[in-house]
Amino acid sequence: MHYVSTRGQAPHVGFVDAVLGGLAPDGGLYVPQAWPRISAQEIAGFADKSYAEVAASVIGAFAGDEIRHGDLLEMCQEAYSTFTHSAVVPLVQLSPGVFMAELFHGPSLAFKDVAMQILARLYDHLLGREGRVQTILCATSGDTGGAAVEAFRGRKNVKVVALFPEGRISEVQRRFMTTATEANVACVAVKGSFDDCQAIVKQAFQDQALRQAVDLSGVNSINFARIAAQAVYFFTTAAALGAPTRKISFAVPSGNFGDAFAGYVAHRMGLPVAKILVATNANDILAQAFETGRYARGMVHPTMSPAMDIQSASNFERLYFECVEREAVETARAFTAFVDAGAFDVPPKAYAAMRELFLGAAVSEDDTARAIISTLNETGELVDPHTAVALSALRRAELPGPVVVMSTAHAAKFPEAVAKASGVTPRLPPGVANLANRPERFDRLPAEAEIIKAYVRAFAEG
Ligand SMILES: *Cc1c(COP(=O)(O)O)cnc(C)c1O
Repeated sequence: MHYVSTRGQAPHVGFVDAVLGGLAPDGGLYVPQAWPRISAQEIAGFADKSYAEVAASVIGAFAGDEIRHGDLLEMCQEAYSTFTHSAVVPLVQLSPGVFMAELFHGPSLAFKDVAMQILARLYDHLLGREGRVQTILCATSGDTGGAAVEAFRGRKNVKVVALFPEGRISEVQRRFMTTATEANVACVAVKGSFDDCQAIVKQAFQDQALRQAVDLSGVNSINFARIAAQAVYFFTTAAALGAPTRKISFAVPSGNFGDAFAGYVAHRMGLPVAKILVATNANDILAQAFETGRYARGMVHPTMSPAMDIQSASNFERLYFECVEREAVETARAFTAFVDAGAFDVPPKAYAAMRELFLGAAVSEDDTARAIISTLNETGELVDPHTAVALSALRRAELPGPVVVMSTAHAAKFPEAVAKASGVTPRLPPGVANLANRPERFDRLPAEAEIIKAYVRAFAEG
């Protein structure tokens, strides 16, 4: 299977190079040259397979013959044995026709674990095979860093530098990163927003000298393996609810658009998806794009769902590329214009293509809090603020068929916000209950690319 850049100026690469490379050298994102298909019969069979088996089939469709199926299955089994629920991603019914997929039973209690646990094993396997050591640079709006540190800590062939916006993430989120004691992990509090952190990561990747010196790689959702790993639970949840004979809708709390785009990928692979509702907080660039056809950056507003405080959704470029019928020149034009002008209009035909599957809705802080308390009252479930954004958006939208709401974090990751909304303080599960007592270790740096690039180089070479 070959991978092409959305900007059309990078050589085609295989799955292994697309994964280990992260961002394409022309600044674009890798997508498969053609979408692999999963047959209706195979989808029907997913309902009684283990999560790891489905993951090996779906991810395997993207890896082609570059990874042996047996190896991949073993990595998936190991990855998903770190989850504390035997279903890995269990479904909970909230009301007639509305189900919640609990994506937070992994080591850092957020949905990022689902992809990161398999990604870390893929990296170790592939790098070991090639005798390489890589440095992973990742920007986190809160949960990616924790999931990456949990997944990569202590791995032989990988070093990790996690950048997070100082003061913009919850204490529990921070502690999942900063309490790691392994020497292959470095955490940096950046004086800026998540978008600043992400921009610095992009600049580091465009610095060819640095890229080569430290063998730089990325595990933000620009990495296609994460998207592939996230497509898996669209299949497992839909199959549990009667796919492929029934079309399922999804409501997804969105920031960088990785999770919702994975739903699009599942759809392109053959999963019958009715609609995908893209729910945002006050940082509504995506909701506006789907509702108006204009993709326009605003100021970043801090909210109680900080993992979605994003005004530049990387994976939107992948959807755009598909919806302009893979015109790489047009995609490069639009996203270069976005960097300069902060906005562009989606051409009418591409917008119509997007609307076939996607709807958008932005949710205020008040409505997010109301969704937490009303869900508790109506179902007994205590949900986190990100999940609450999707639940609130769903109350206003009309989605056909059974709906799966992606529940992206454990409520105990955001105890203050949840307690304030509901009067109930969520408790951490037993395995991580002592997080608050472990010592922290991190550095503080200004939001300046040159300084952070020098730090990365020193850490990688040290
Ligand atoms: C990362 C994250 C999201 C947003 O996911 P994207 O793939 O960036 O759209 C939502 N909720 C939580 C808890 C997250 O950590």
